[in-house]
Amino acid sequence: MDGLEKRDQLRRVKAVIFDFDGTLAVLNIDFSLMRERIFALMRHYGIQEKLIQEKYLLEIIDEAYQILWKGNPLNAEDFYQKAHDILHDVEMKAAENGSLLPGTETALQKLREKGMKIGIITRNCEEAVRKVFPDIHDFCDVFVSRNSVKNVKPHPDHLTYVMDLLKVSGEEAVMVGDHLIDVQAGKGVGMKAIGVLTGRITKEEFEKTGADYVLREAAEICNLLKK
Ligand SMILES: [Mg+2]
Repeated sequence: MDGLEKRDQLRRVKAVIFDFDGTLAVLNIDFSLMRERIFALMRHYGIQEKLIQEKYLLEIIDEAYQILWKGNPLNAEDFYQKAHDILHDVEMKAAENGSLLPGTETALQKLREKGMKIGIITRNCEEAVRKVFPDIHDFCDVFVSRNSVKNVKPHPDHLTYVMDLLKVSGEEAVMVGDHLIDVQAGKGVGMKAIGVLTGRITKEEFEKTGADYVLREAAEICNLLKK
């Protein structure tokens, strides 16, 4: 497929949904420290790692909560609160040294000038994102952190919620992100998915997961959607 045909595929796009960390901003969250602290907390509550099926930390915490709840609901609530305090602590530390990627604000402005609606979604907490991007609401139509939805991406609820708010269908939106989760989330609700190379995922990994496009950075989407 040549460039023009590819661009033609995006003719119907009315909304662009971005991931935040690694896509619009650099945060360097220490995920291994986060994981270590959460697993230590789980052991403290008597939950061994081998009991856990889930892969990502937020889902792991939910799973541990369910296990604990069967034995002692109060313990479960206690664990959940402490686990989220750990996430918040590590995320806020990262946010202190975080910054938007160069060109983020200009790109978002340009897209809006083209008439695009903009959504930003993240598994990060609202406070950490606002620390890095205080005027986020001047640059997007909706911002949905994990504090605003029960099931975060790659669960379809996260993007379905954004689609409802923006009043667009999956075919009318694209999802842009630096992680395979973003591609899975986008494809899961019928969006075109764009991987960006500002995180740790390679072009080959994105293509294997079904990304429709891979760009060096999110700001390049302005050229892709040029009318
Ligand atoms: Mg990301």
